[in-house]
Amino acid sequence: MVVRIDEAGCVACGACADICPEDAVTVDEVAVVDADACTDCHSCMEECPLDVISG
Ligand code: SF4
Ligand code: SF4
Repeated sequence: MVVRIDEAGCVACGACADICPEDAVTVDEVAVVDADACTDCHSCMEECPLDVISG
């Protein structure tokens, strides 16, 4: 199972996309994870300043 992002809390800062080693996160109005590319490493969870990524 890949990580989930609470879209209501995401401020689209881009920190998760910057840290992702797989380039699995796209940030437009909110961050979106590509489930096929995500390896569930949890780096983005640790990086998100608002703690809106869970997994
Ligand atoms: S869990 Fe890892 S691979 Fe998946 S989106 Fe977050 S940083 Fe990228
Ligand atoms: S790090 Fe958190 S707040 Fe920033 S874009 Fe990613 S999910 Fe949204």
